[in-house]
Amino acid sequence: MITRKLIDTDQRFSIGKIVCLARNYAEHARELGNETPDAPVLFMKPASSVIGDADSVKIPNYSDECHFEVELALLVGKQCREVSVEEAGDYIAGYGVAIDMTLRDVQGRLKAKGLPWEIAKGFDTACPLSDFVLASSIAEPQNLNLMLSVNGDVRQNGTASDMIHGIPQIIAYISAIFTLEAGDIILTGTPAGVGKVVSGDVMTAEIPLVGKLKITVT
Ligand code: MG
Repeated sequence: MITRKLIDTDQRFSIGKIVCLARNYAEHARELGNETPDAPVLFMKPASSVIGDADSVKIPNYSDECHFEVELALLVGKQCREVSVEEAGDYIAGYGVAIDMTLRDVQGRLKAKGLPWEIAKGFDTACPLSDFVLASSIAEPQNLNLMLSVNGDVRQNGTASDMIHGIPQIIAYISAIFTLEAGDIILTGTPAGVGKVVSGDVMTAEIPLVGKLKITVT
């Protein structure tokens, strides 16, 4: 069972489904040559893809192009369905840092054929994920900064204020499709600057006030 702590509480959550947004930052959609969608584009990662701080991403042998995507992660605190934008905040227990590891070559081939992308996004180790800080400790989650460096070089440096669909809108949209349960995780998309890592690289992902992950690549 994979769990994450809600820091400064005695609560620990079993990780459920991980619902992820693609193309939620316009500049990142452009850098991959994708259109900016009207509605959120969703996909999922299995809980078995989660690793923690100081763990290693293992690039599967069917890919030569593994990319990092730093993302703000939301921890769902209680079950909900069809939540309004106004009520959405009541269901977020905490904020964390995630890296949405993506096999870009595999994803590109599958996208071109109109096939699902799971093997590019849900493989073992594809979801480095921190513990969570209490949602109530973050006054302005939509203004958090997201940073990722590789071997000390800053590669991504963005702000959650550039999201196309904001945090309450995301919860409302997803909860109208999938019942959200305590321990579910939502990855809210990545800002521009994504790129490739290779074996031996060290990624540091940080969202100030929220957390930090140091992950090696093998
Ligand atoms: Mg992503």
